[in-house]
Amino acid sequence: MQSALIVHSKHTKNYAKKIAKKYKNVIFLEVTKPPTEEILKIRNDRDIVIGIGGGSVIDTAKIISKDKRCIAIPTTAAGAAMTPYATIWGKEKKSVTTKKPILKMDYELLKNLPLNVMQSTVFDALSHAIESFWSKNATLQSRKYSRKAIKLINRYLSKINEHLTKNDINELITAGNLAGHSIAITKTNVIHAVSYPITIKYGVDHGTACGIVLPYFVKYIDDKELPKLFRLNSTEELVALLKKSFIPLPEIENFNVKLIARMAIKYDKINQGPKRINKKNLEEILKNIRKN
Ligand SMILES: [Zn+2]
Repeated sequence: MQSALIVHSKHTKNYAKKIAKKYKNVIFLEVTKPPTEEILKIRNDRDIVIGIGGGSVIDTAKIISKDKRCIAIPTTAAGAAMTPYATIWGKEKKSVTTKKPILKMDYELLKNLPLNVMQSTVFDALSHAIESFWSKNATLQSRKYSRKAIKLINRYLSKINEHLTKNDINELITAGNLAGHSIAITKTNVIHAVSYPITIKYGVDHGTACGIVLPYFVKYIDDKELPKLFRLNSTEELVALLKKSFIPLPEIENFNVKLIARMAIKYDKINQGPKRINKKNLEEILKNIRKN
């Protein structure tokens, strides 16, 4: 029997206890926020690190495990469990390289996801796919992945809050993986660059922050090919669909346009999209978010 450190969230605590029976000398670590610099100081002496939860939990497990085995049992489809990278959130956002975890899927765990978690996951994956699709770095291969991901996710946009079958969830996981493959080639750009300061300053979780800004940048970029992937005729129709699908659209109190623009513009990737972004036009776009 191997010893284990199990990283979990409040939501996956009971599941973690169940898993613990297969290991000896188990230590539990409950994660309530995205990983910060402090996580780097944690020394792990267990044989295996197991992460059960969303992006923050899986990223924490990946960072702590270092050279030891890491198993990821994800409760979201955003892709943290599939990549050898983790994000550390401090005053700024930093990406660290980790080992790629061993992926274990448990449908029972995914079936019981609360709506806001499901929605956050879907909008993160959709942002990955859209940013990759219009990226300056897009290749034939990356576009093949991003197109497929968008078409798959589109089928679920109008029914995220309905009961999802095992097949639905598997398709969403596939879409999340395809979107993950596409950004592995292109990296993300404007939506992610703007979402980071919103997460850092207002504590809005990553996928939700992406979902909030997504329609406004889809409108600004106005990519003529994009609406077709959603079987729509115009950017206006697509913007309306994106806004309607995110229920309820969370409000950020005292949204500071100048501050968010100043922070977002520091990420070089903000200009890896198809249209030039400067501080001035960024502020103009962000003002609309505050109004609505
Ligand atoms: Zn993301």
